[in-house]
Amino acid sequence: MAVDRRPTKSMAPDQAASSMTSSSSNQTTPKQQFQSGPKVWGRNKDVGTGTVIGSFLMMLCTPLLVIYFYIACNSYQCSLSAPLFEWFNNDLSLTHLIDWTIRELPVFSMHAAKIYIIWLLFQAVLYTFLPATIGYGQQTPAGYTLPYKVNGLLAWVVSHVLYFVGGYLGLWSLAIAHDNWGGLLVIANLYGYFLTFFSYFKALVFPSHPEDRKFSGSIIYDIVLGVEFNPRFGKYFDFKLFHNGRPGIVAWTLIDMSFAAAQYQQVGYITNSMILLNILHATYVLDFFYNEDWYLRTIDIAHDHFGFMLAWGDSVWLPFMYTLQSHYLVRNPIDLSMPYFLAVLVIGLSGYVIFRSVNHQKDIVRRTNGKCQIWGKPAKVIRTEFLCSDGKTHHSLLLCSGFWGLSRHFNYVGDLLISSAMCLTCGFGHLLPYFYIIFMTILLLHRIERDHSRCRGKYGKYWEMYEKEVPWKLCPYIY
Ligand code: NDP
Repeated sequence: MAVDRRPTKSMAPDQAASSMTSSSSNQTTPKQQFQSGPKVWGRNKDVGTGTVIGSFLMMLCTPLLVIYFYIACNSYQCSLSAPLFEWFNNDLSLTHLIDWTIRELPVFSMHAAKIYIIWLLFQAVLYTFLPATIGYGQQTPAGYTLPYKVNGLLAWVVSHVLYFVGGYLGLWSLAIAHDNWGGLLVIANLYGYFLTFFSYFKALVFPSHPEDRKFSGSIIYDIVLGVEFNPRFGKYFDFKLFHNGRPGIVAWTLIDMSFAAAQYQQVGYITNSMILLNILHATYVLDFFYNEDWYLRTIDIAHDHFGFMLAWGDSVWLPFMYTLQSHYLVRNPIDLSMPYFLAVLVIGLSGYVIFRSVNHQKDIVRRTNGKCQIWGKPAKVIRTEFLCSDGKTHHSLLLCSGFWGLSRHFNYVGDLLISSAMCLTCGFGHLLPYFYIIFMTILLLHRIERDHSRCRGKYGKYWEMYEKEVPWKLCPYIY
């Protein structure tokens, strides 16, 4: 049964002029800003040719990159350079490359396809039928505040208990994901592409919230970045929350465990590096589900439209690339010294504490409408107004004390620390396990720019006030 947990309503308009907004009276109001131009805040409508080409290349190259990493792990002990050396040391003729590709590519397997489809349907059943609380997202550009079923933690527990019980009863091997990795990669890709094109078609033909669609004028860009903001089946089956959480994040720890089981089968024990990796990944994943309600107000849900980036990203990129360290540790088992083990654990856990505390501060200040203590003092906030395409003025607030007074994205510092620790569990033998931190750094730096331009569009002068109040983007005195 669903339990309603609607957050406190936004504040009254007259309150919005309080706090740090007193200088606003002789500047343009949000209504004037809205009326002066056709652009409503939210994703850009106008995209240039460079962006379209970039989107196309992203859709083309990211699956190739995943396949290259698969081959590097499957046949070259997770060395990223070894396949390239083999090409250059042998002849680079077309025949040789075709032979090599046929030999190395992951192949479709009916067995893996069945596992994947059963897994996906099972997650959909859990998402739909497990008891849930109802959480609410941020207001969309069209003015909707959508309800979400929040039951990810329970789904995670059920999935993991079942995985172990089935393994214990001999219904499947605990190394099931490891043993079917190539076939799973193929079927997950097929599903990711199917979901991408289905979502585009749905956006055109039967959108959930037509006013929240964004068309850029480029079909390619719309397919990659998405058109619909919150595609759904019925009232609650939300594409974004489901695909990011279930085939994506629930799978993350299951895949790690499956690779740990494979390591056990191959070397007779589980190395402390693999245990440490599992602890760090599980901390991150469990935190996500424990705080799933908070996730509803992060950029993934509150800003991104549902296209290839999220559909394929959740189906393939997340489960196959975020778990690379466990693939590496199966091929290269490492026993860490105790001081190294403890040092990595401390880096990871301190990153986690920062990550969670920063995110918690934002959540609590929004939930209490600024009436809370941050680091023992009343929260310092900028009260904002913004317009939605329903033409109405809405209100929000920006925290500028505590961690949010240090920089505008101190939560990313915590995330980068945990991510570094996850990579460090693999020692320094190869570059491949460090792909995650390289990717996260690029992702988060790019996200800062995306987020700031979105917030500038949404909050206008209030965002400028915030930028003056908190000048650092990520890390004080560095960036
Ligand atoms: P945030 O949780 O920081 O959300 C940014 C949004 O918060 C802004 O768009 C704005 O939205 C609001 N906001 C900005 N400044 C303030 C402020 N001072 N006070 C109150 N609200 C503010 O970003 P993300 O969604 O990117 O990240 C959430 C977490 O997820 C982070 O910890 C990040 O590290 C992690 N993450 C992990 C990824 C992974 O793949 N492992 C990928 C991406 C993120 P508005 O005002 O419209 O509500």
